[in-house]
Amino acid sequence: MVRARSDPSPFTLHPSLSGLSKSTLAKLAKLGVAAKFDLVLHLPLRYDDETHLYPIKDAPHGETALVQGTVVEADIKYRPRRQLVVTIEDAGGTLTMRFFNFYMSQLKQLAPGALVRAYGDVRQGFFGAEMVHPRYRVVRANTPLATSLTPVYPTTAGLAQDVLRRLIGHALADCDLADTLPDDLLASLRLPPFRAAVQFLHNPPPDARRDALQSRTHPAWRRIKFDELLAQQLSMRMHYQRRRAAGAPVLRPRGRLNRALLARLPFALTRAQRRAFSEIEGDLARPYPMQRLLQGDVGSGKTVVAALAALQCVENGHQVAVMAPTEILAEQHYHKFSAWLAGLDVAVAWLSGSLAKKDKRAALKAVAAGEAMIAIGTHALFQEEVEFANLGLAIIDEQHRFGVHQRLALRMKGARPNRGAQPHQLMMSATPIPRTLAMTYYADLDVSLIDELPPGRTPVATRLVSAARRAEVIQRVRDACIAGSQAYWVCPLIEESEALQLKTALETHAALSATFPELKVGLVHGRLKSQEKAQVMAAFQRGEIQLLVATTVIEVGVDVPNATLMVIENAERLGLAQLHQLRGRVGRGPARSTCLLLYENPLTETARGRLKIIYENDDGFEIARHDLRLRGPGELLGARQSGVPMLRFADLNSDFDLLEAARGAAQELLARHPETARGHVARWMGYKHDYLRV
Ligand code: ADP
Ligand code: MG
Repeated sequence: MVRARSDPSPFTLHPSLSGLSKSTLAKLAKLGVAAKFDLVLHLPLRYDDETHLYPIKDAPHGETALVQGTVVEADIKYRPRRQLVVTIEDAGGTLTMRFFNFYMSQLKQLAPGALVRAYGDVRQGFFGAEMVHPRYRVVRANTPLATSLTPVYPTTAGLAQDVLRRLIGHALADCDLADTLPDDLLASLRLPPFRAAVQFLHNPPPDARRDALQSRTHPAWRRIKFDELLAQQLSMRMHYQRRRAAGAPVLRPRGRLNRALLARLPFALTRAQRRAFSEIEGDLARPYPMQRLLQGDVGSGKTVVAALAALQCVENGHQVAVMAPTEILAEQHYHKFSAWLAGLDVAVAWLSGSLAKKDKRAALKAVAAGEAMIAIGTHALFQEEVEFANLGLAIIDEQHRFGVHQRLALRMKGARPNRGAQPHQLMMSATPIPRTLAMTYYADLDVSLIDELPPGRTPVATRLVSAARRAEVIQRVRDACIAGSQAYWVCPLIEESEALQLKTALETHAALSATFPELKVGLVHGRLKSQEKAQVMAAFQRGEIQLLVATTVIEVGVDVPNATLMVIENAERLGLAQLHQLRGRVGRGPARSTCLLLYENPLTETARGRLKIIYENDDGFEIARHDLRLRGPGELLGARQSGVPMLRFADLNSDFDLLEAARGAAQELLARHPETARGHVARWMGYKHDYLRV
């Protein structure tokens, strides 16, 4: 348990950087230093060890060392290129220093007889030990050695290390370094006090373990990382609480429309779908905005859960916005909702970038007048121009595709149900993240999980096929299409270049069209106009196109149950999550589906590992666990991370234990000692806290 600090002193945390020149301030700003306290947290990149003087003959080759010797020769040489060469010697050996950039004054300074202390990488040169561009000083015989490791700070052009060191020294003296966290919390985590940690990191004592400092595993580092993670967790939770303090329309479960929808579905909801919906149903009936993430593997049936939520909202007289990241997906939602709701007297507006001006204006008008109760479109569109009469619920599909800022910006729009109130928010994501990680990292959201697939699905058979066996693959595509099925052919993703990917797609389409004169071969890629894309997708949906060549735009959410074969070229280049998403495009109907992963030899060890995992597993959460092991949570959460303030010190991969500890501590502090929590966030985020107040 955490006790309150006896004295939650008000922190005067951010004294200004007074007395510095404009140019110094500008340089500091480049380093992210805007207030004095930022200097306290401007922590060393690494440390130089100038506490120990090596006799030249013992200086370890391949390592950095401090040596001292008398200059015996200093000359400018021209071979192999112009350089200043200075030889020093001590009682037991000689060492050559080489400078390729130098001033003539250095030649004078390093005249024979001068005593020099040099710090640099020792290497074995042709004539014995050498240092290239060492840091050096001319010293007197009794000049004392440094008593602590020398911090080396991240810096920028024109801002010297010693200037930074001095400024940081002042900041350490001037700023309030009192602890923000209670002693018993620190004791239970075996973390040192804040003041001790920063003092230690800026001025480590001579006996400090350099390796632990360097690898940032030292308790002082762990304290800093914990503080940072805690500040992030706290700030996300506070953000959550603040939004929760806003009002939202109370959307009671009435059930008439929901029953009508359920009655017309050709299937019953799975247990997981029912559970997820009941969580949402409960949230919507509360007088504050829902902030829920609905997570479920590809094909787990999130859309119908979203439709039920939408109907509950509509039945209470409020409008619903349904947003998708791509036009293809938005249109598919539009068709699905229209079909499901036909005859229920709920007007659905389709807001597409590809609508004729006149139709778009009419649709926008219907939404603004409150005639259309459900509006479906791409996220971009909503952000730009849609006004609602009475928005009660925003549904955001494939949430992981949006940056946090993008989705938060939505709330800023004049899309308010009533004065001061906020719409409820339901986000959906098919990026399966293990539950603990989701709870920790989505600290600003409630999470519902659909952890089972609808029954009767036959798992997709996955085959790994060397690209050398392309002929067999082509035969399989032909067989499948002639038998009345449809197929996807996904072109390699070339990360560096969208243009190259497009070129490959065009060529593949041309080649496959020639190979299959008897089939209708379609093409869809990111550069098509949305209207063209929609036409191709609609034709594929209707079965008029049998083989669809696609770039990875197809990855997200597309649902064509008659497609039973998927070919993915250069599968070795794709990540696990993406392969899993792509494969999820087939196996959506009753027929047995196959996914052929074509790879080019030779395979790297990692690529082989990935393909093996995707071959052996079909459960998205299982795959995510492997992915987590292979890449670590930092990478796994990359998309989201780009939207929240970056972690400067902690690393989600190596510091996951601290993240979990921070999550627990955040809850406890907020529940019992909100003052302490606020003090901690103020120290760490200060003025930056606005960042999150979107
Ligand atoms: P995702 O969660 O990937 O968005 P969808 O909502 O697109 O999945 O659903 C995938 C397919 O499964 C759709 O064709 C949908 O109609 C169907 N489906 C959804 N729920 C069930 C269920 N309980 N039983 C059978 N099929 C279902
Ligand atoms: Mg979906």
